Amino acid sequence: MSSPVIVVGGGITGLAAAYDLVQQGRTVVLLEADTRLGGKINSGPVTGAGLAFDVDMAADGFLARQPDVVDLCHELGLGDQLVAPSGAPAYIWFDGALRNIPTPSVLGVPFDIASIENSDLISPAGTADFVARIDKPANPLVGDASVGEVLRPRVGDEVFERLIDPLLGGINAGEADRLSIEAGAAQLADAARAGGSLPVALRAQVDASLAAAAGPVFNGLRGGSHQLIDALGAALGDRVRISTPAERLEPTGGGWRVWADGEAIDASRVILASPSWVTAGLIAPYVPESAAMLAGVSYGDAILVTFVIDKSKIANPLNGSGFLVPRSQGLLMTACSWSSSKWGHYDDGIHAILRVSAGRTDDLRWLDMSTADIVDALRRELVTTIGLAGEPTARATPWRQSLPQYRPGHFDRCDDIDAQLAAEAPGLTVTGAQMRGLGLPACVRQGRAAAQA
Ligand SMILES: Cc1cc2nc3c(=O)[nH]c(=O)nc-3n(C[C@H](O)[C@H](O)[C@H](O)COP(=O)(O)OP(=O)(O)OC[C@H]3O[C@@H](n4cnc5c(N)ncnc54)[C@H](O)[C@@H]3O)c2cc1C
Repeated sequence: MSSPVIVVGGGITGLAAAYDLVQQGRTVVLLEADTRLGGKINSGPVTGAGLAFDVDMAADGFLARQPDVVDLCHELGLGDQLVAPSGAPAYIWFDGALRNIPTPSVLGVPFDIASIENSDLISPAGTADFVARIDKPANPLVGDASVGEVLRPRVGDEVFERLIDPLLGGINAGEADRLSIEAGAAQLADAARAGGSLPVALRAQVDASLAAAAGPVFNGLRGGSHQLIDALGAALGDRVRISTPAERLEPTGGGWRVWADGEAIDASRVILASPSWVTAGLIAPYVPESAAMLAGVSYGDAILVTFVIDKSKIANPLNGSGFLVPRSQGLLMTACSWSSSKWGHYDDGIHAILRVSAGRTDDLRWLDMSTADIVDALRRELVTTIGLAGEPTARATPWRQSLPQYRPGHFDRCDDIDAQLAAEAPGLTVTGAQMRGLGLPACVRQGRAAAQA
């Protein structure tokens, strides 16, 4: 029997890679360090909350317009579990009130002057600044830059800090001022590359997406995102070894030997879908420059606290999907998702389910707090923002080193890593959220692409 392909890491990227290899009829071994599969995807009960269902502890949805996850769900027989969010609007907490997000917008970037003029989020001075800048033709973006470098000059600081940074910074637990526009906000990069008027480019994107629209923009899974992990785990069966961290790699002349839990396994190829610092350590002896580039990818730390309480205990009617908090507001929370309003499968008619996030690369306060203090601080912020009364049940899930931060030039560095591996360590492939996209569709896509390579 030929040597297996070894996949290191049983997060969604590694699982998608292993699943694809099995579909190709390849022999596969998947090594996962943890006691469970799924990595940054997990769902489970909120103990003591009286819910009859599990609630996601991190990802609760994924872009459906990038069909990779949706297609995979259908392949795995989960098509009937796909659900769409309510589509209700989100808000921004600013200056003591929840304020509407101006629409239309692309990734938080508004491009309709009237929507800003009518907004109670942007001041008259910020509006005048926006109006003076937004339609000014600009030279096409060449190469990569940070979202801040590209967009501050085109929308003004106020719109950037009250709208764009809360959304894009929030998704990544980072700062839009340091985020690669190419790797972290592809639609905005496309618009900037077109040059000329930003509203014209963004409107064209919205029109194209409406024209192509089939089905919802986002999907989730009834029963929680963990269903996807369970189905992949079931499809892989005894090819999966949990609690088995890959410790060392060694070339065998035509293949690779992987040392895991004291055992040596010979492989024809190795797909590394572990976090960047782990992968960097494994490949460092053979491709030190690539290892250094990987080790240089920093990660954001975040914590997600799920609160559950009787709906009657919240003054706000929760007519929406939640709200974002700009960093200027000084709150610990960065976002609050009204999950029981956003997703039908989380609405039992009785409980409000709120998923509250904290932590950004430039706000590490929560790391110095006890879990009880974090929960209490966020609960008090819910009193202020949505009129919470009473004691909710809470479940805190810390996600240390969980969200890779793409700096400008990120994709060029990924290309360099791929090229160096092909030239100097053939048979090794590096993939995962730290490479070519951290959303679930991008992870599935790159995992499957690694399997097809
Ligand atoms: C709080 C939060 C909310 C999110 N929300 C969303 C969302 O709503 N929608 C969305 O699309 N995305 C979301 N994401 C992003 C997305 O969940 C992640 O980017 C994605 O799950 C990462 O998958 P991965 O397989 O690349 O990495 P990981 O999930 O990090 O998997 C890597 C795996 O490698 C294992 N490992 C480590 N060392 C070794 C070793 N030596 N040997 C073997 N295995 C090893 C780890 O245990 C882990 O299981 C969210 C992320 C977080 C943290």
